[in-house]
Amino acid sequence: MKILCETQIFNRQTNSNKPKTAKATVAIGFHPTTKQDNKSTLELIHFTPQNRNGVRYKISDNIENMFTKFINDGKATISFKTPPENLMIKCDPIQLKSFLQTLKLGLQGKSSMNLKSNLAAATAIPVKSQPITKIVVTKRAEYPLKGFPRSLKQLTVNGIGLHKVTFEICSLTNLTTLKLNDNSISKIPNEFGRLRLIELDLSNNALGEDTNFRWLIGKELKKTLCELDLSNNKLDYFPIELIKLENVVTLKLSHNSIKKVPFGIRGMKNLRYLHLSTNKLESLPSSIDEVKLELLDVWENNFQPICEKTVEGRLNVTNSPQSLWLMAANAVSNFRLPISSRTLPWILVDLICESPKCFCGRLCYGEPVWERAIEATLDNIKQLVFSRDRLIYADIVVCSAACAAKKAIF
Ligand SMILES: [Zn+2]
Repeated sequence: MKILCETQIFNRQTNSNKPKTAKATVAIGFHPTTKQDNKSTLELIHFTPQNRNGVRYKISDNIENMFTKFINDGKATISFKTPPENLMIKCDPIQLKSFLQTLKLGLQGKSSMNLKSNLAAATAIPVKSQPITKIVVTKRAEYPLKGFPRSLKQLTVNGIGLHKVTFEICSLTNLTTLKLNDNSISKIPNEFGRLRLIELDLSNNALGEDTNFRWLIGKELKKTLCELDLSNNKLDYFPIELIKLENVVTLKLSHNSIKKVPFGIRGMKNLRYLHLSTNKLESLPSSIDEVKLELLDVWENNFQPICEKTVEGRLNVTNSPQSLWLMAANAVSNFRLPISSRTLPWILVDLICESPKCFCGRLCYGEPVWERAIEATLDNIKQLVFSRDRLIYADIVVCSAACAAKKAIF
């Protein structure tokens, strides 16, 4: 009988204090001593990667002690008389119990199926090679022709001019970290949203050439993604799908040409680090202060002073009744009901998450946006990086003439 286990050898004479753990095979059985008289001795063989031929221990009259107090945890120690060594074995408890039972039967001279194997030619159990979990490709020649192993957890493919994300990559469902930076990717299929990625680096690509970001809100990706880098992608807008990524903590959008950040950014409840340096922002939405940012980097942007023309315009307050959806959304917001697509119709969830809010708290859907109407309030942002020669203005939406008057924008 053979078991695959972890072992430590402790020599009682040399008293070495730090026995090394090894992945080992321990075998037990009879070893025929002479062919003629068919005599055989009971033996235990200990195979380790350092000793592939195994170290043989006689068993009969050679066991000093057996320590089995922790057998239910899969641990036992066999203490031999010669050599004066303790063999500590750790493995699956059921296997270990069966092994020690076999040893006991052997010592009692009883036969057992498990003792039938001839130990003369015994070898170690081949240890399966570890599954590949990480691959880095930085040259075209390194791209595997036979495809990537499905066991991959981390994949880096950069600087090889990749134009698209293949379906094969979309099927690597064990991936948690994917770095495809410094390529020429302009298109990502919707199937990409099936991946359960935690970290995704797509910086220095050409995603601005495409307008489809539905992959971002794929069933799995939306739930798992924590870190997303879309820096330097020729993006001239903020993909609205981003605001659905409730678990994203770090979002990098630097070195693009983004002019506006949507009011719905307040839906990114876990966002803490927002990088928007070197873009074309003229203002920020007033809701930016609702996101509990540790860092907002808006260095090198194009913040413009208050836009006189818009401020002087008349607020379009209509007396027509509000749509039923908007009334329902306002009720959810006012009563602070949990916003979840399990309990609310999805259209309502979308409306609540995306529509701007008046500073009084009412949702404003379809109301005009007052661009750069006030100086931005950034009190809740712990670290703000910006060019100090420009003030940051905020776009606002107001629900009524009364609220507009309070903000003195009439
Ligand atoms: Zn209001």
